[in-house]
Amino acid sequence: MKEKSELSRRSFLKNGAMVTALGVAVASGMAKEAWAKSGTYATLIDLTRCDGCTSEPMPKCVEACRAVNERRFPTPKEPIKDLWPQKTHDDWSKKRDVIDQLTPYNWTTVQRVEVEGEKVFVPRRCMHCDNPPCAHLCPFGALNKYADGSVVINPNLCLGGAKCKAVCPWHIPQRQSGVGIYLKLQPMPAGGGVMYKCDLCHDRIKNGQPPACVEACERRPGSKKPLSFGRREEILRMAHERAREINGFIYGEKENGGTATLYVSRIPFEKIDSKLKEAKSNLLMGKVLNPLREANRWAKGFLIGPIIGAVGALGLALFHRRQREKEERS
Ligand code: SF4
Ligand code: SF4
Ligand code: SF4
Repeated sequence: MKEKSELSRRSFLKNGAMVTALGVAVASGMAKEAWAKSGTYATLIDLTRCDGCTSEPMPKCVEACRAVNERRFPTPKEPIKDLWPQKTHDDWSKKRDVIDQLTPYNWTTVQRVEVEGEKVFVPRRCMHCDNPPCAHLCPFGALNKYADGSVVINPNLCLGGAKCKAVCPWHIPQRQSGVGIYLKLQPMPAGGGVMYKCDLCHDRIKNGQPPACVEACERRPGSKKPLSFGRREEILRMAHERAREINGFIYGEKENGGTATLYVSRIPFEKIDSKLKEAKSNLLMGKVLNPLREANRWAKGFLIGPIIGAVGALGLALFHRRQREKEERS
């Protein structure tokens, strides 16, 4: 009997701590305002200089990203439960080798298209938007825009509801089921795993290092240095200078209200985008609108997100209370 009450007390403390964490997350999601100011750092990707590392088994930027983030890749608990109430789940754990798209195990990828006879390689990853809808609309406050420009997912708060992916104009975050705090929620109507994406090597920046992908590309023998990393103003200046030199175009300065991943290309981005569409890619490069600016359509999302979060947390608290009562009765 003593053992049982000790067990109940422990599970109460554990569950209570989780509900508290969720409560804090919900509150922080509600409190988030215009903290997502222009990022301090940015990356410029010069498409005229990237050769896709075609002579390598894997693009060096992709290889470096995978190596530096490997310890953070998910290890799902088997068997992986279906999302509730659907009868599906997202599982990339058996497809870890996939490098031609973004997955929870591959946070950057290099697309290739041919436009007017010219091969174009397009390294892709999170754009680190200045005003990121993913971070503003996450019901659990699991994403943050940091002063260094990075937008980072906290895997300990993410429930994998994928709202960040739905509101991201490029649908960047990717879900792995079978991991994260949603496992404790089922069958409550929330979550489905944890979302993963590039975090601009936030920890490396803190230590004064450039992102691993940038460093790896620069170290490559004969590299034309298509990736440049630095203060956003400097990167924007470089982008404009290069665009003038090549009579080219910039992507990311205005898209989604401005981003910390910028591209410069001799070929118009509309043409690259239409080739990506032809190739049926789900990672496009066209004109986008920041959903946060379409007030009429999205204002509800602003409000609904935190409300759903609050309902989810409340549901979780009730669920655990019922569990505790059951335990105590048995
Ligand atoms: S960005 Fe650099 S490392 Fe990546 S594919 Fe292009 S050349 Fe290779
Ligand atoms: S690109 Fe998408 S995931 Fe990345 S910061 Fe912008 S909205 Fe968020
Ligand atoms: S910035 Fe870091 S996390 Fe993002 S793609 Fe490059 S290596 Fe990967």
